[in-house]
Amino acid sequence: MPPEFVISIKSKDDEYMVGVTCDNHKKMFVDRLGSLQKEGKVPQGSIHFADLKPVGTSCIKIDPNDLIQL
Ligand SMILES: [Zn+2]
Repeated sequence: MPPEFVISIKSKDDEYMVGVTCDNHKKMFVDRLGSLQKEGKVPQGSIHFADLKPVGTSCIKIDPNDLIQL
């Protein structure tokens, strides 16, 4: 499935884009982000999904070293 959502973490005054996912993998992504937050590898904060138009790249991209501060 193509990615349908952009995932970001909203913490206090900042928002970090962490990747894209399709609807099927949303829950998996939330679980994975939750454990990364526990390990301190991604910022603490609420996980936010924004609609994305399909773009044909593979879904589930997450790299804590590759966080983009918005
Ligand atoms: Zn998927």
